[in-house]
Amino acid sequence: MKLKNKLIAISIIAMSLFAVTGCSNNKSANENDYERNATLTSTTLSDVIYDSSKEINKGPTKTYGKVAYITIDDGPSEYNDEMVKILKDNNVNATFFMVDGNMKAFPEQVKNTLKQGNAIGFHSVTHDIHKLYKTDMSAKEEFDVCQETFKSITGETSDLIRLPFGSKPYTSQASYDNIVNAGYKLWDWTLDSEDWKSTSSQLLSTIKKYAKGDEIVLLIHERKQTVAVLDDIIKYLKSEGYEILPIGQSQQEENYWNGKLGSQN
Ligand SMILES: [Zn+2]
Repeated sequence: MKLKNKLIAISIIAMSLFAVTGCSNNKSANENDYERNATLTSTTLSDVIYDSSKEINKGPTKTYGKVAYITIDDGPSEYNDEMVKILKDNNVNATFFMVDGNMKAFPEQVKNTLKQGNAIGFHSVTHDIHKLYKTDMSAKEEFDVCQETFKSITGETSDLIRLPFGSKPYTSQASYDNIVNAGYKLWDWTLDSEDWKSTSSQLLSTIKKYAKGDEIVLLIHERKQTVAVLDDIIKYLKSEGYEILPIGQSQQEENYWNGKLGSQN
């Protein structure tokens, strides 16, 4: 009888533990961005604890780990295939902010970027600050065009956007309001790699010098010199303890207006 009670007690404890773990995992899957979970092959207990900590501490400072969001602007381009492959080979994903005309020119790359687990957002039609801010609705309307193009290629939608040259100082309050009210999530960056005007080695040096803090939103572009050191960039960030993640659709946006970017406010 005693032994039987003991066995029952052990069973109850085991079942409770299973229930708690299962519940935490469900919570993680529901409340964190779905792309991240879609790319996870397994969820460890430390992931669950870490995810919970992110929900509690919604600010930019994190206590349980360092995160780097690699964001890649201006594509897709002839360099897209290789960048996606390098990310895949390193078992990480990035966020690609794509220009409308380039999505039309490289539709297979749009599909493949998404298929490999990366996030895709929009980066305007004109990439021209004079046209983007011609009226207070122009920028918002450019993102609507991107959305249509993306939907026609992939059947999906995205709310993630990045304004060419950042959301300050060019964007007016009215333009910003129209973008936000349309439901778009505007992302700026914490670290501009300036890769467009750098050699590969200069680019890598810049990142090694300035990639600091608990969270990095790194801005790079689909450029030849960037592709050449993308593998090194990823390996460096990993060696510094960063978890490299794509931006999630349900994630709180971080930009120069809402005070969520620590280093440039
Ligand atoms: Zn750009």
